[in-house]
Amino acid sequence: MSNVRVAVRVRPMNQREKEKHSVCVISMSQNKTILQSKAVSPGEVQKAPKEFTFDHCFWSADDSDPDTYAGQEEVFKTLEEGTIENIYQGYNVCIFAYGQTGSGKTYSMMGTDDEPGLIPRFCRALLNRKSEGTVRVELSYMEIYNEKVRDLLDLKKSKKELSVREHNILGPYVEGLSQHAVSTWEDIKLLLLAGNKCRTTAATKMNEESSRSHAIFTLTITQMFPNHESGTSKELHSKFNLVDLAGSEKASKTGAQGKQLVESGNINKSLTSLGRIISSLTECKGSYVSYRESVLTWLLKNSLGGNSKTVMLATISPAEDNYGETHSTLVYAERTRQIVNQAKVNED
Ligand code: ADP
Repeated sequence: MSNVRVAVRVRPMNQREKEKHSVCVISMSQNKTILQSKAVSPGEVQKAPKEFTFDHCFWSADDSDPDTYAGQEEVFKTLEEGTIENIYQGYNVCIFAYGQTGSGKTYSMMGTDDEPGLIPRFCRALLNRKSEGTVRVELSYMEIYNEKVRDLLDLKKSKKELSVREHNILGPYVEGLSQHAVSTWEDIKLLLLAGNKCRTTAATKMNEESSRSHAIFTLTITQMFPNHESGTSKELHSKFNLVDLAGSEKASKTGAQGKQLVESGNINKSLTSLGRIISSLTECKGSYVSYRESVLTWLLKNSLGGNSKTVMLATISPAEDNYGETHSTLVYAERTRQIVNQAKVNED
């Protein structure tokens, strides 16, 4: 299986778009997503539709079209294929959600009580998987807001800004980030609820509850295999990152001003840097890439090259009003699909 898989998920029209009778500009056929060009004024030539190829395309049609609808369970089952297995084999796995605010990143990653998303479903599946060794699972949850790292599970409420350091073997890590041992879904759920409450949100024109931070949820899995003959034991480590990226939209469209304009600048910087790293991995495999350009890319270093498997879920709106942002998301996602990782199993 490829080390990078890219999926696209279109959300249903929202109430505002339905009331405006917005035109749907997206269609999907197997692993192709087609973006119709915007309606043109009389006399103008209509541009040809643009076609993009991905590993998976998930359609979220209205209730009227139940046959093609991909719900939370289907998205999970498709993206899970081989993933839990890879983690237990010692690979680092990163799943990240990319897209403009309001396109369905948080719905896909976190979901609702009735329709749980990828994080709860993956956590349950991971904890239910049997291993021949003894398994220890630890959880951390942080956000990157304005290029600063904050522990979302800082039980001492010290609200300290944490620093990123780099270990010469283990790679980048956040100094002082709290790690919580978990063994059941209930343990994780309590921590997730506490962490989500803590996430930084600010109102923008596009989405009242829009999150302006990148959230990184990490499970560290350590398997210990005792060797009874020699009396020693072997450890196998892997990391599973689930990343809900901040909205990818351009600052101008959201009407951001002042403090929010600075936030948008930092979000654009980290996503542009992520894009640049992705292109350099695509175009000149193995050449030097500057992960340290942004905190996000520095921390994701081991998930975008080396010993890793990456899944990107790009979320888009179906409406013509969002044509520009949808187009950029599809271009970005298609480029990501071309990353070639050199997978190596991480064994002690
Ligand atoms: P984002 O995290 O990208 O800002 P959200 O996940 O908050 O966007 O989604 C915006 C709104 O659209 C929410 O009300 C969410 O419930 C709804 N939504 C998004 N994706 C879907 C989907 N695939 N099916 C049903 N509702 C969705």
